[in-house]
Amino acid sequence: MKKLFIFFMLAVLSIAALGLHYLLKPSGDLTEFSSFTQSPHLESMHPPDIVVKYFGVSTLLFDDGKDQILVDGFFSRPPLSQVLFQNIQSDHALLDHFIQKYDLKRLKAILVTHSHYDHALDIAYLSRQTGAKIVGSSTTHWIAKGGQVPEKQLLLTTPEQIYTFGDFNIRAIPSQHTPPTFVNNDLGESLSAPLKMPAHFTRFVEGGSFDYHIEAYQHRILVKASTGLVTHAYKGLEVDSLFLGVAQLSKQSTAFQTTYLSQTLKQLQPTLVVPIHWDDFFSPLSEPLKLLPHLADDTPKSLKIVIDAAQKQGTDVVMMTSSSTLGLPILRP
Ligand SMILES: [Zn+2]
Repeated sequence: MKKLFIFFMLAVLSIAALGLHYLLKPSGDLTEFSSFTQSPHLESMHPPDIVVKYFGVSTLLFDDGKDQILVDGFFSRPPLSQVLFQNIQSDHALLDHFIQKYDLKRLKAILVTHSHYDHALDIAYLSRQTGAKIVGSSTTHWIAKGGQVPEKQLLLTTPEQIYTFGDFNIRAIPSQHTPPTFVNNDLGESLSAPLKMPAHFTRFVEGGSFDYHIEAYQHRILVKASTGLVTHAYKGLEVDSLFLGVAQLSKQSTAFQTTYLSQTLKQLQPTLVVPIHWDDFFSPLSEPLKLLPHLADDTPKSLKIVIDAAQKQGTDVVMMTSSSTLGLPILRP
């Protein structure tokens, strides 16, 4: 009887281990989307273009050769085991490497879409080292203050206000986070004191979500990190290049997916759509980006939903990897 019990327990543990292994594996293979990762839009720049680099999740660098704008700041990407069982913090050596490699001394602003750690972990160190202003919610400001960013470098997201940095004109648009899951069920919660690092990932509460409309040289860009929206938020908005969050789109209802696509892609009719927030952010930037694990999303399905809708209306699709460079044409000499 005892032997049978041990056998039963071993079988249960093996099934649990196999299940966990499956859930943590990438939900698909990026090579399935190679026609989009090798798009002619990539690596075919005609200077002077606005050069875009992607660092996973929704961390995007826009560079006009003079000034730089960063959307979100998340390079450190601590592994899952660390996120679950330890406090997390910015990897300063890694950030110094990126500051040098991408000449981030020219960085003028960091536009923060919301305050979860996969968007805001590295903003304080980057802002302090480069002098870049941080545009974000009051919660984002508390994260910056916890990292000793001077008050004069902090700008509060105020809808309708235009922020100008060099030739970039920027507007924050109130948005909605992706519908909550058991790990990020803190939507609308905010900080009211400086957040010092190291800190547990759950201390980085959402604090309100924003999309950013960036206009430079008559090229209009919208960065939308989260898979959620405020109804009719983009009424009258002109967008050439749309950076569209797809995380967990496959998990939502058909009605949600239809509304999401009709109020983004269909309404905006951009020339180009770049899906973002599809990568496994527990894996370091020293490795090629991988799709989110099964545990988080069916990422091939999420991507296909967006790709199909884009192709139906004649919008080009580009998938950026961490080694690709996208040139957005400057439309005014
Ligand atoms: Zn989030």
